[in-house]
Order: sequence, then C-alpha cells, then structure tokens
Amino acid sequence: MKAVQYRTPGSAPEVVTVPDPEPGPGQILLKVAAAGVCHSDIAVMSMPAEQLRFPLPLTLGHEGAGTVAALGAGVEGIEVGEMMAVYGPWGCGLCRKCTQGQENYCLRAAELGIFPPGLGAPGAMAEYMIVDDLRHLVPMRGLDPVQNVSLTDAGLTPYHAISLSLPKLVPGSTTVVIGAGGLGHVAIQLLRALTATRVIALDVSADRLDLARRVGAHETVLSDEHAADRIRTLTGGEGAQVILDFVGAPPTTATAAAAAGIDADITVVGLGGGTVAVGFATLPFQTTVTAPYWGSRTELVEVLELAHHGAVDVHVETFGIDEAPLAYQRLHAGEITGRAVILPHG
Ligand code: NAD
Ligand code: ZN
Ligand code: ZN
Repeated sequence: MKAVQYRTPGSAPEVVTVPDPEPGPGQILLKVAAAGVCHSDIAVMSMPAEQLRFPLPLTLGHEGAGTVAALGAGVEGIEVGEMMAVYGPWGCGLCRKCTQGQENYCLRAAELGIFPPGLGAPGAMAEYMIVDDLRHLVPMRGLDPVQNVSLTDAGLTPYHAISLSLPKLVPGSTTVVIGAGGLGHVAIQLLRALTATRVIALDVSADRLDLARRVGAHETVLSDEHAADRIRTLTGGEGAQVILDFVGAPPTTATAAAAAGIDADITVVGLGGGTVAVGFATLPFQTTVTAPYWGSRTELVEVLELAHHGAVDVHVETFGIDEAPLAYQRLHAGEITGRAVILPHG
C-alpha cells in the first residue's frame, strides 16, 4: 500500500510503498478515508535527529478516520465496514490517569514505548492503518470523515483547552484566540457553541482573520506588537479572562501575558517555544498559565456530538495521497486556510 513517511531527519515526507498491514490479536485494521495534516508534524520533522523519541521511518497522520476493514483475533463488538474516528493519544489503559479517562496524560506511555499513530506508531496517512485497541475508536455515526477527521485533534485539543476555563467563560467575559489556523478556527466555533464569551481572534494572515470572522469571532486583531494594547482597548482596559495561544511562539506568549486580566487563564497550546514567566507582580494577580496536551476520549465523543448538532464545521482543503508532501509544504509556508486533509484512496 501507499504511505506518507518521514524517513530521513531534516528531509521532506515521501510517498512510498510499504507492506499491507495485518491486524494482530486485539487490533483493528482500518481502511483510511481521511487523514488530517497538523502543524505538530512539522515541529516533529524540524527536530534534530537526537531529539526524536522514536525510530524512522514514520508513517505520518495523527488525525485519522476510516472504515473497519478487518478484525484481529478476539476483537468483538464492532462490524467490518463501520466508519470510525481514531482517538490518537494512546496510553497504557491501566495507570491512574488512563483509568480516570485521561489517556492523553498516561503516566506510563513513555516507559512502555507507547506512541500515538503518526507520532511514533504507524499513522493514518496511508491506505490502511492498524489501531491497537477497540477503545481507541469512536463511531462516526454518519458524520462525513473528510469534513470531520480533524475533530480528532484540531477539534479535541481546543475542546480540552477550553474545558479547563469554562467557569470563567461567563457572559461579559473576553477570550482571545491567538492563531486562527487548523486548531484556532475550530476553537472559535467551540467557544461560540459552548459559551457566551466574546471572542477576539489574532493572526498574522488576512485570510485567517477573515476565516475567523466567518466562523464566529466577534473581533479580529492583527497579531503584532500592538495587539495586546488593542485587546486592552477592546476590553475597556480590563484585559482578557482567557487567552488560548495556538502559536506559542515568543511574540505570541508575550502578547498573551500582556493581554491577560486579573484572574485570567493563559493556555499555551502551540509548540512555538515561547514561555510565560510566572511570579508575584509578573502577571496580573491569580493568573494561571498552563500547557495542555490533546484531550480525552470522552471529550472526543463530545466534540463529535457537537458536529452532529452542526455546531462545528472544519474548513477543509483536500489532497490526494501523492500530494501529501505538497500539503506539508503549503502548511509550512502558511498557505493553508483551515485544515489540509489527505484522502489516501483519492
Ligand atoms: P496551523 O498552521 O494550521 O495554524 C497556525 C496559525 O497561526 C496560522 O493561521 C498562522 O497564520 C498563525 N500564526 C503564525 N504566527 C502567528 C503569530 N505570530 N501570531 C498570530 N498568529 C500566528 O497550525 P495548527 O495545526 O492549528 O497547530 C497550531 C499549534 O498547535 C502548532 O504549534 C501545533 O504544533 C500545536 N498543537 C498542539 C497540540 C497540543 O496538544 N498541545 C495539539 C495539536 C497541535
Ligand atoms: Zn496535531
Ligand atoms: Zn496509562
């Protein structure tokens, strides 16, 4: 079968032919319908070889959806042909965090060498993929896989980030979304669906700011060194109650810190290497800073439920499997508005 692999440190991903996978005991083989292209893959492919925690080649794709093609020995309760979304942050299933339903914070994944598909295990950017356990699948219940595959990360990650701040997102509050890309444009829709907060979106691209407005941002602000001042003005001097940074680079974490109001939440989701200093009188009183990772399976079910209600609509640009390297190139160049999705079967 064809697969999109990151093979050589520092090189672009390649489309290659690999053996067709077969499901072992307890595993499920999916025929992939759609695989999303996330900016985290670019972060992984920019790491020096010695920082990579898994061997190459790596089949990319940590947002996946497809139909059940075959069941490994002992798998029951699922039918061949069912359309499933893949829950990506695989853990051990047995540690304290996993048993609390927070497999994204598995305490033993690193020690046991368990990696998410596309981030260590073979991923969804191939004609077929292996899912290691039934609990890592969620039925799509009629949702279109191409339109909705990215909810497994670009939906789930912002949903989890927003859930941490829900008590603060009361009417009259302001939330700043920094970076209206794949994750950010879904975050805006989730905020509008779940809360009455006022949303201010920041980006460096006019196209992304336009998309942000179309998906529900009340205000848009160009992300430059004056952005925090504009947020202060828009909030009557108070600053924002919640800031979600989907870039996480030094200029945006600086904006996040400068735009925070008293008792604010600053949530850094982006992998851009920026930091927010915390200390008395460094930030407004009682400001909380956190950097969450992905989300839980329960939260994925909830995000898909929102999609069923028509509350989230991912802005998708599709590519064939042979065009996957081009999709990454365009994402890297800042030329994707919304989410790029690869269709392995055309
Ligand atoms: P993306 O490329 O689709 O979106 C990034 C957006 O940020 C783009 O619209 C871009 O124009 C904008 N941008 C770039 N520089 C900016 C700046 N200085 N100010 C404001 N906007 C700026 O990326 P994505 O796939 O949505 O991922 C966003 C980030 O989240 C990436 O760093 C990714 O690695 C990270 N991520 C983290 C998690 C997690 O669990 N923490 C999960 C998924 C993705
Ligand atoms: Zn991702
Ligand atoms: Zn665990």
